[in-house]
Amino acid sequence: MSDIDGRAVASAIRAEVAADADRLREEGIVPTLAVVVPTDDEGTAWYVRSIRKAAEKEGIDCRVEHLKDPGRDEIVAKLQELSADPAVHGIICQTPLPEGVTLSQVGGYISPFKDVDGANSESLGRLAAGLRTFAPATAAAVLELLKREDLVLEGANAVVVGRSTVVGKPAALLLLNESATVTVCHSRTKDLAAVCREADVLVAAVGRAGMITADFVKPGATVIDVGTNPTEDGGLVGDVDYESVAPVAARLTPVPRGVGPVTTALLLRHTVVAAELTKTHG
Ligand code: NAP
Repeated sequence: MSDIDGRAVASAIRAEVAADADRLREEGIVPTLAVVVPTDDEGTAWYVRSIRKAAEKEGIDCRVEHLKDPGRDEIVAKLQELSADPAVHGIICQTPLPEGVTLSQVGGYISPFKDVDGANSESLGRLAAGLRTFAPATAAAVLELLKREDLVLEGANAVVVGRSTVVGKPAALLLLNESATVTVCHSRTKDLAAVCREADVLVAAVGRAGMITADFVKPGATVIDVGTNPTEDGGLVGDVDYESVAPVAARLTPVPRGVGPVTTALLLRHTVVAAELTKTHG
C-alpha cells in the first residue's frame, strides 16, 4: 500500500498558484480572497489563520471579515457587499454559523463568479449540469488527489460514503462527470460494508472516527479519507481505520496530511481563477 501524499500535491498546486498570482499582479490585478467569519469558535479562528498564511505566502491578499454575534441579515449584507466589491475575487463564509442560519441560505448571496468554496447552490446546480463552476474545495480535493495518481476513473466503481452538500454530493458529481459509476451511501444505506467492497475508489466523508475498516475495502482499492475527527489528545483522525485498511488498499490518504492541505491549496487556486475571470466578466 502506498500513502497518497496530500502535502506534496498541495505544494505542487501552490507553486502553480504562486506563478499565476505573480502574473496577475504584473497585469495590475491583486488576487484577493475574503473570508467571512461569523463565529468566535477557536477551531475556526485557527483554520482562518492557516488560510491567510497560505494565501499571503502565494501572493494572494486575504481579507478576514470577522462579524461579532451576527444575525442572518448582517451576514447576508456582508456577502452582498463583498460580491459587489471589484477588489475582491474569492469569498468564503466560514462555519459554524449562528443558530438557525444555514450555509445554503446565505451562500446564495455569494456571487457565483466569486464562490470559491462552492457555497452557492447555483454552483452545485452547475456542477450537476456538468457546467463550469467552482466545486466546494474539499470535494475538488478528492478529485485532484485521484487525478494526480493517474487512476482511470472512466468506468471505475466509485462509492462515496456521505451525502452532505459540501462534501459527499459534490464529490459524487465530480466523479460522475469523470464517467465513474458512482454510488452514494448515507446513514440509511443497507449493508454499507458490502456496497463499499464493490468500490475501486472509496471516498469516506462521514465524520465518524475509524468507521471504515478492512471489511469495507476491496483488495487493491484506492481510499480517500475526507473525515477529520478530533481526538481527546488534541489530534485528528479520519473516518478510515488506517491500521486495518492499509494492508488491503492499494492507495490511501492519511489524516492529517491527506485531503486537508489539498483543500486549502484549491481554495487558493480557485481564487486566482476567479481573479482571472474578472478580465472577461469585470
Ligand atoms: P455531515 O454534513 O455531517 O455529513 C455526514 C454524512 O455522513 C451524511 O450524509 C450522513 O448521512 C452520513 N453518515 C453518518 N453516519 C453514517 C453511517 N453510520 N453510515 C453511513 N453514512 C453515515 O459531514 P460533512 O460536512 O460532509 O463532513 C464529513 C467529514 O469530512 C467530517 O469528518 C468533516 O470534519 C470532514 N471534512 C473535512 C474537510 C477537509 O478539508 N479535510 C472539509 C470538510 C469536511 P445522512 O445524510 O443520512 O445523515
